[in-house]
Amino acid sequence: MTNEPLSYERLSQERLSQELLPSGSILKQALDTGPVETGVAVLDGVTVTVLDRGVISFEPAGYGLLGQPLKSLVLSAGVHGNETAPIELVDALVNDLVSGRQTVAIRLLVILGNPDAMIKQSRFVEENLNRVFNGIHEQRSSLEADRAAVIEAHVQGFFEGASSAVDEGAVAGERVHYDLHTAIRASAHERFAILPYGIDLPDAQMEFLAASEIQAVLLSNAPAGTFSYYSSYRFGAQSFTVELGKVRPFGENDPSRLAAIDGQLRRLIAGQHVEFDPTSFADTTTELPDVPIYSVIHEVMRRCDEGFELHIDDAVANFTELPVGHVLTTCTNRRSGDPDRRIGNGQRSDGPDRRGEPDRRCTEQANAEAASGVSASFRDFVVSEPGSAIVFPIRGVPIGQRVALIVKRQEGN
Ligand SMILES: [Zn+2]
Repeated sequence: MTNEPLSYERLSQERLSQELLPSGSILKQALDTGPVETGVAVLDGVTVTVLDRGVISFEPAGYGLLGQPLKSLVLSAGVHGNETAPIELVDALVNDLVSGRQTVAIRLLVILGNPDAMIKQSRFVEENLNRVFNGIHEQRSSLEADRAAVIEAHVQGFFEGASSAVDEGAVAGERVHYDLHTAIRASAHERFAILPYGIDLPDAQMEFLAASEIQAVLLSNAPAGTFSYYSSYRFGAQSFTVELGKVRPFGENDPSRLAAIDGQLRRLIAGQHVEFDPTSFADTTTELPDVPIYSVIHEVMRRCDEGFELHIDDAVANFTELPVGHVLTTCTNRRSGDPDRRIGNGQRSDGPDRRGEPDRRCTEQANAEAASGVSASFRDFVVSEPGSAIVFPIRGVPIGQRVALIVKRQEGN
């Protein structure tokens, strides 16, 4: 870490960005597995600090125009290493910030979440980083657990104003966190935001999301180990996980798909108001389009180890409605004599509403088959509520982890 900040007055802009990010960009710095390049510079009155691998902050001096505390925005991408479109968006933004092409009038912390997974172009290296935040990492031992601890420390330092670059009290402003992702499969709503459990949906955020052409909002129903839940729960931030289309390799993304949110983020960072263009929506009769709001009504978990099957075609898009009676998951019973027969004995419940309770007749039949040493399938989760739609179905997760969300559009919305 350079102790004495480099001064903008003494260095050309180009030289300054070279000093701060000698590898050329925050993305290249994050992908470099050598010693971490950190440093601090003052750029037009803004303190720019490269804090860690893939972590950089921008802190304007003092207060806002009317003496109010500055807004603090955490912008993260690459929590899943193969979700490249938002990583590219954030990298280009940081390039423009460091080179002075983009002005910054709020406090900003940019985080590229999982650089090792980004190198591998995979979702994660050892485990899903977006399941081990909010202290869960303390009970785990993995590359992602270590990274979650590092990220949490930087977020805490930023929101609590630990940096010497900020005045005391100047950090008491609004806290916002956008964690940018892309989804594994296509979605009936191409871009959507997930609000963590326990916070209200602020009007100003709805305006930002609508102007960013976010097509749906999903309200979580429970605490989680996600980055956005951590920042909202621990720091009262207005946090969202934002899904911006489908996973594609680096260089294969169409930037025009993200132009709206890119533009709004840049306005936000420059201290400008959200600019909403109603003509970009089909329905121009209202100032803001009605963004459909969905609630999570059920989390489908992987509850058995052997022979677990998720019955959904890979081509089925997120937010596709499922017919009542659709058997979404099944488990193959273990062989006769295996003491672990929890699936068949009716002990398990899927929460108070008992959705997903194994079908009794099916269970008895399977028990009989299992007793004869023949493996059989149990219905594990069956869709029971009209209007149920599926989001984030995923195969191959470990036992105890989420396989899919069942969501329902809110009445009158
Ligand atoms: Zn993701």
